[in-house]
Amino acid sequence: MAESVCIVAEFRDGGFRRVSFEVASEGRRLADSLGLKLYGVVVGSGVGDKAQELAKYGVEKVFVADNPAFEHYIAETYVPAVAEMVRQCDPAVVLLPASMNGKDLSARLAARLEAGLAQDCVEIAVQDGKLRAKRPLFGGKCLGWYEWSDGEVAMISCRPKVMSCLEPDDSKQAEVVNVDVEIPDARSRVVSVDLDTSGKIELTEADIIVSGGRGMKGPENFAMLEELASLLGAAVGASRAAVDAGWRPHSDQVGQTGKVVTPSLYIAVGISGAIQHLAGMGSSKYIVAVNKDPDAPIFSKADYGVVEDLFKFIPVFTEEVRKL
Ligand code: FAD
Repeated sequence: MAESVCIVAEFRDGGFRRVSFEVASEGRRLADSLGLKLYGVVVGSGVGDKAQELAKYGVEKVFVADNPAFEHYIAETYVPAVAEMVRQCDPAVVLLPASMNGKDLSARLAARLEAGLAQDCVEIAVQDGKLRAKRPLFGGKCLGWYEWSDGEVAMISCRPKVMSCLEPDDSKQAEVVNVDVEIPDARSRVVSVDLDTSGKIELTEADIIVSGGRGMKGPENFAMLEELASLLGAAVGASRAAVDAGWRPHSDQVGQTGKVVTPSLYIAVGISGAIQHLAGMGSSKYIVAVNKDPDAPIFSKADYGVVEDLFKFIPVFTEEVRKL
């Protein structure tokens, strides 16, 4: 009988990424349902006392490998360290963030630990004592439930911003175990990191996104969306058509071959709603579409639809938002 549900937290640039707390909270709910302990694993540089932050979300014991060699995610150094610490947790279930690094890590870790992996899950449930995880398939066209054979370690990466965080409890303390892992010589190393210093809100972490498509007609018209976004505290995204036209950088692209986002509010402006775009934003909490074509497919997914020329609607809407 396994001992724990184990979560692998993502520590970067001196702090935990928020998705780590979502994963810890989901781990707590799962550990309670399965009658198991909740353990955490952290690999990073400068983790120190910050490991205790996971305790606020119900993690009872945290295994930490804190070393300057772990400043950047490099699979060759991270995977053996995480694998060793996960083994020490004796887990029935391992949860990780389905972030860019988390997806890479979980695939490699699953192979190393011979665990069954379900990537980018949006729901986890225990039914009649059996664990199940739900994930979008075929670019979001359908959802599939996954189950594991008895005795198999279940590994699940969780889509960011989908699973809710528990209310942090500052009174909780976790046992912290510092692990001295062996660090192999990596054949690759990070030479430099070019950070985006524009102060833009990262799309995958934004709570509100205003996205523009081919209907924007040209790069200069995105200034209108930038203005609205700054009033709403939102990030600006784009469809592939807008990116392929060179109007926006690829880092702004939402969709199957862009970013998967789950904001509370997604405002799609001049975007038709192709299946590949919906794959990236379909799980947003509320979707508002602005399109002059009443038959645009985006309206079948939208909670609120505005059938209007965006060049008439957006300036008026922006002025109304400014008054709030
Ligand atoms: P269009 O489909 O041309 O829609 C423009 C919309 O703007 C129309 O609905 C029109 O009615 C409206 N409009 C025009 N003028 C106005 C106006 N003045 N006021 C209001 N509305 C107006 N797409 C993505 O977005 N992300 C992806 O990651 C992605 N990956 C792909 C991967 C593959 C393998 C393939 C084959 C395609 C992928 N695509 C992706 C492309 C996708 O199929 C669509 O071509 C693309 O999403 C269309 O972008 P759009 O909605 O901006 O443009």
